[in-house]
Amino acid sequence: MTKSYAAQAADARLAPFEIERRELRPEDVQVEILYCGVCHSDLHTVRNEWRNSVYPVVPGHEIVGRVTATGDRVTRFKNGDVAGVGVLVGSCRTCTNCRKGLEPYCKVGNVGTFNSPDPISGGMTYGGYSKSIVVHEDFVFRLSDEFPLAEIAPLLCAGITTYSPLRHWKVGKGSKLGVVGLGGLGHMAVKLGASFGAEVTMLSTSPEKEPDARRLGAQKFANTRDPAELKRRAGYFEVIIDTVSAEHDYNNYLDLLDTDGVMICVGIPPTPAQVDMATLENGRRSLAGSSIGGIPETQEMLDYCAEHGITSDVEVIDIATINEAYERMLKSDVRYRFVIDMATLR
Ligand code: NAP
Ligand code: ZN
Ligand code: ZN
Repeated sequence: MTKSYAAQAADARLAPFEIERRELRPEDVQVEILYCGVCHSDLHTVRNEWRNSVYPVVPGHEIVGRVTATGDRVTRFKNGDVAGVGVLVGSCRTCTNCRKGLEPYCKVGNVGTFNSPDPISGGMTYGGYSKSIVVHEDFVFRLSDEFPLAEIAPLLCAGITTYSPLRHWKVGKGSKLGVVGLGGLGHMAVKLGASFGAEVTMLSTSPEKEPDARRLGAQKFANTRDPAELKRRAGYFEVIIDTVSAEHDYNNYLDLLDTDGVMICVGIPPTPAQVDMATLENGRRSLAGSSIGGIPETQEMLDYCAEHGITSDVEVIDIATINEAYERMLKSDVRYRFVIDMATLR
């Protein structure tokens, strides 16, 4: 049996729970989990905010650790290697999107690392708030061991979820990029956008985060609770990436787009939003969504971050404090990613 932390119901606290991991198949890798990042998607799912949770939920999809066993046919990993697992542990592998390395958009349906029907073992998948995981090697990533592993964990979701759309919409030198929300995803968007050469403006409800935003790479900062600050930036941005987890008015930010600008929503608030179509029509603006990146792009992002020394700013926590960490995340009080030290799961 494998130790984990699970929620047994939408209103229950996460608590210790034992799960069973499958026997290794020939192409499987077993990873001893050393750190797991805490994504707001974990919280949405634990509390059934997306109305698709099947309990018990063992969350966690920013997994880093060490390989402790490999199946006979595994070629890319050996015992002792550092390795990562992100948001997906499977996909059909044969649809047009999977063949292009766009597994998040698998047309048959991919397999999430947690709270997904498990096509191999039956039941639901269990995520990274646990001591170990068994994953097909194609969904395991190679990591640099030059940086603290805890700071690499958040790249597996927060990193790739911001890297992928910034690349897709060709954010580069001189792009005027606005980042909405300075949390886990937002701080990676700032770091990556700045690294790609963009002029980054942080759009935040938390004015006390301004010094951090600038340290992370933002050149400008706007307190979005102040209507005058928003008004001043009307029509300014080529690209806005919205990472907000809670209900908010998208129209306020759409107005900040320049002609032909795009607002990319990666945050997934539990409730649908109302958008004024006139705001899009006026300026030929686009409103877009984006999931995590595919498997090849995730490895590319990890390699890019290793090459450029980009990691996440983390607060490492004891798993026994996970429920308090969720409460802090809800108050936007995270700087800028909680990461569980799995040695504290005994
Ligand atoms: P997080 O660390 O909690 O950050 C969210 C940030 O949004 C907060 O720090 C806060 O920043 C801002 N915010 C919170 N409530 C707000 C409100 N009512 N109005 C305006 N701003 C508000 O969350 P995260 O882990 O980065 O995740 C963000 C969202 O992305 C979640 O919905 C998550 O499920 C989703 N997600 C999507 C994908 C994908 O594939 N598309 C992948 C991962 C996560 P300020 O203090 O700066 O305002
Ligand atoms: Zn996530
Ligand atoms: Zn597919």
